[in-house]
Amino acid sequence: MIVRSNEVNVLEKTTRYGQAMERPRDIVKLDETVVNRIAAGEVVQRPASALKELLENSLDAKATSIHVTVKEGGLKLLQIQDNGTGIQKKDLEILCERFTTSKLHAFEDLRSLTTYGFRGEALASISHVAHLTVITKTASDKCAYKVSYEDGKWTGPPVPCGGKQGTQIIVENLFHNVATRQKMVKNASEEFQKIGDVVSRYAIHNSNVGFALKKYGDDEVNLKTLPNSTTVDNIRTVYGTNVAKELIPVETEDETLQFKFHGHITNLNYHSPKLVFLLFINNRLVDSDGLKKELDQLYSMYLPTGSHPFLYLSLELNPQNIDVNVHPTKHNVYFLHEDAIIKKIKMAVQRKILGGEPSRTYQLQSLLPSPKSVPSPSTSQQEKDKNKVYAYQKVHTSSSEQKLDKFFSSPQPTKSTFSEFSDVRPNGDQANPIPVSVQDNTAEGVKDTTSKRREFRLTSLLELRREVTQCTHHDLQLILSGHTFVGCVDISHALIQHSTDLYLCDTRSLSEELFYQLLLADFGNFGVIKFTNPMPLAELLKMAQEDSTKQIDVTAICKLLVSRSPMLEDYFSMEIDNSGNLCSLPLLLKQYFPDMAGLPEFVVRLGTLVNWQQEKECFATLSREIARFYCHPADNTSSEDKGSHGWKWTTEHIIYPALKKNYAPPKSFLDRKAILHIARLQDLYSVFERC
Ligand code: ADP
Ligand code: MG
Repeated sequence: MIVRSNEVNVLEKTTRYGQAMERPRDIVKLDETVVNRIAAGEVVQRPASALKELLENSLDAKATSIHVTVKEGGLKLLQIQDNGTGIQKKDLEILCERFTTSKLHAFEDLRSLTTYGFRGEALASISHVAHLTVITKTASDKCAYKVSYEDGKWTGPPVPCGGKQGTQIIVENLFHNVATRQKMVKNASEEFQKIGDVVSRYAIHNSNVGFALKKYGDDEVNLKTLPNSTTVDNIRTVYGTNVAKELIPVETEDETLQFKFHGHITNLNYHSPKLVFLLFINNRLVDSDGLKKELDQLYSMYLPTGSHPFLYLSLELNPQNIDVNVHPTKHNVYFLHEDAIIKKIKMAVQRKILGGEPSRTYQLQSLLPSPKSVPSPSTSQQEKDKNKVYAYQKVHTSSSEQKLDKFFSSPQPTKSTFSEFSDVRPNGDQANPIPVSVQDNTAEGVKDTTSKRREFRLTSLLELRREVTQCTHHDLQLILSGHTFVGCVDISHALIQHSTDLYLCDTRSLSEELFYQLLLADFGNFGVIKFTNPMPLAELLKMAQEDSTKQIDVTAICKLLVSRSPMLEDYFSMEIDNSGNLCSLPLLLKQYFPDMAGLPEFVVRLGTLVNWQQEKECFATLSREIARFYCHPADNTSSEDKGSHGWKWTTEHIIYPALKKNYAPPKSFLDRKAILHIARLQDLYSVFERC
């Protein structure tokens, strides 16, 4: 609105006397060209968004070849040549008026829309903010026609000219009359990059169509895909072989939720510092922050810290469940059952990347040492039937149901919180518990408090974490993360069940690795187990000497550990005071305390087996020694269980539940026989059936 300057002064004066005196400003009708320009700016925000509209028009017109030419990031020239149906001569006069479209006739049609466009706003908008020329020829026309448009109207009737079937749209001097938009697009090469993104994404999604992109005046094309290539071909062309060779196809559908979904995603061998996320919903390039976040998070559980996958996903929803009529840019798409659909997609992706397909599971079982022969790989019939649940597959998996312990008569404590800590002995089997107090700083504890988690970007630490991820056995991870605890077989072995299979696990090996990984994951952020009476290191070493034949240099080890105490305290919550007393240990898992009987031996190992010279080696060997000390049940534990918070209780309620969260079992577990596949329940079932 244009207001004369003396009017502004009057208004300002009135406001000085307070709100009640203020006269509302007059409402005036905006000039139509201003309205159109504002509206056009909404639809066409930048050259890349204009191009997206024009590409969609060409695809709507059934083009199989689309050539794009760009000058100065699209601000000088944006030219799209297609070989589609062309535009009829009689329609050319109203082509660039607002709300003229060949794709929608009644509001109800919106519900069954299969084309990209439907508003008839793109060409109109472009004509308001640029010089627009259209050259077009249909199959039945003898020649092509050329028309120019300004502010929604043609500047003169069509001029016959030579040309091939299809349409060429020439957009020149975009935003010449909208200074603010022009300023927003500062960098031509950045904008060209955005245009390249749009073209390449549509090329990947429309692999039957050949696309070409080039800069005006250049002989070479920046991007070229062939008609009738495959999606993977085009991903290779755009993103390179490194991405393409690690791709796995994924698909799923759900009748109740009325959706279909397919795509290509990278496996866990691939990781990049940047997430590439291509999402099409009903063939339209869109964004869904919810889906993007969920999938990126899923991968982050398995990829090295700070790395991301490549994801191309195409989602088809019943058009009736989707509201496309939300914004002129049509970028945001809302749909029914969004959460449920995202969850399904996430599950399908997880199954794929963890290789949870039947063929892989069979392969795993043959890898796992097993007393039984391995079933042959599934036939196609079995494949078809794999979704059916047979009676023999229905086995109890609820943790509240039958467990081995039910057959023994030891009491089963179910709950103990930290406020009741005084009742909890550090370890049920320990003769003389050492009085301690606890400060919980662990990841779980931190969430409840306002204290901030410290992040360490130490190369050594990041490398150790990456090594853990790289050595992960993904099938074992799947088994452990989804297992049901069955019971303790003996002090160092427990049975777990996953799906219809039973596994025998070496609790000590699994827990030592657990503590090692916790030490790397929560590095510098541990809670503290504080000794009420600090322990003199010298005393501990002397105790160890009594049990050992080797000579222990008490003074040297004390001196060494005291000299390392600032690091031990800061990173590992192990406080050693100046007089050589050990004051605290890290709290690695809520309610878990190492067996203090192992403390003297632990201090000796700190003094003799840890490499204190190199940072990475130091963190690795130190974490390994702490993990050995914490491993459960401790070596000297008597097999007689003391019931409440004894080793069995800790095994079931502390150790195995922790193996379900972010645990990365190493491949070496197979060789070390830390997990053995011992039975397939449906086989046992058929044995019973025959009896
Ligand atoms: P919409 O795509 O929403 O219908 P547009 O303003 O993008 O609106 O286009 C208006 C009309 O112009 C379309 O409905 C279509 O009939 C015609 N049109 C635009 N571009 C092309 C093209 N490349 N080939 C054939 N027809 C086209
Ligand atoms: Mg359109």
